[in-house]
Amino acid sequence: MSGVLDGFSLAGRTALVTGGNRGLGEAFARGLAEAGARVMIASRNAEQNEVAIAKMRADGLQVESLVADITVDADVERMVEETVERLGSIDVLVNNAGICYHRDAWDVPDDEWDDVFNLNVRALFKCSRAVGTHMRTRGGGSIVNIGSISAMIVNRPQNQAAYNASKAAVHQLTKSLAAEWAPDGIRVNAVSPGYVKTEMAPVDEPQFRRQWIEDAPQQRYAVPSEIAGSVVFLASDAAAFITGSVLVIDGGYTVY
Ligand code: NDP
Repeated sequence: MSGVLDGFSLAGRTALVTGGNRGLGEAFARGLAEAGARVMIASRNAEQNEVAIAKMRADGLQVESLVADITVDADVERMVEETVERLGSIDVLVNNAGICYHRDAWDVPDDEWDDVFNLNVRALFKCSRAVGTHMRTRGGGSIVNIGSISAMIVNRPQNQAAYNASKAAVHQLTKSLAAEWAPDGIRVNAVSPGYVKTEMAPVDEPQFRRQWIEDAPQQRYAVPSEIAGSVVFLASDAAAFITGSVLVIDGGYTVY
């Protein structure tokens, strides 16, 4: 008889993390590898990819990298083919790569709006479908999307309408794909983090302190490793009956 912790193990599994060379994606790649998976990270900056995988390999983890701009359809196809070739399969996809601009809605240029939606929504869909096609032929898999509390609340004091709308699309796309792909054995879930210290979120800047930190019940930001456990959980068999869920990880931010 196996114990409850066995369900959380990713031993023998394979995972692809978009982004993955810094910030949250790097923590997700590390967490998945620590749980036993062989992991591929895919992002644009080859040098940064090497830095990230060298750190993880030094800790004995099985992590590889490839260069891809997932807003380019041909790169998405190549990323999936190359990952399957090098890892043998993709059991887990973490759709992590994302972008955010702080800008008043009045002033958002068309190209900035397009950048946000092309990466946060369109590329996430294209990666899901390309990997999902592979998962379907193998009888299943687990997709974890990185949403945000910005899908649920309007951030303050900075304005970021395009990002907020894009993350709301991620949450709803999560549910839509979960419904469509459940018969194929593919689970689709999302995590919805609050403020996490990365290049994207300047959590230490004094002008954000009151509304980002002091307004939250726990009165602090998170570090990326605090989100990784939930991604590992959703990727694993411990979450076998969970699909279409959005797990909020925000130190209580959205209770108010
Ligand atoms: P970072 O800006 O630190 O990292 C972004 C990652 O995405 C990098 O690895 C980057 O690598 C990669 N990336 C960007 N554009 C592309 C592209 N076109 N193709 C492939 N990879 C790309 O962000 P975070 O770690 O903070 O954010 C990760 C995810 O978490 C995002 O989806 C974000 O919206 C979400 N999130 C973040 C929160 C936070 O407070 N930090 C809160 C809630 C959600 P490269 O530049 O080399 O391509």
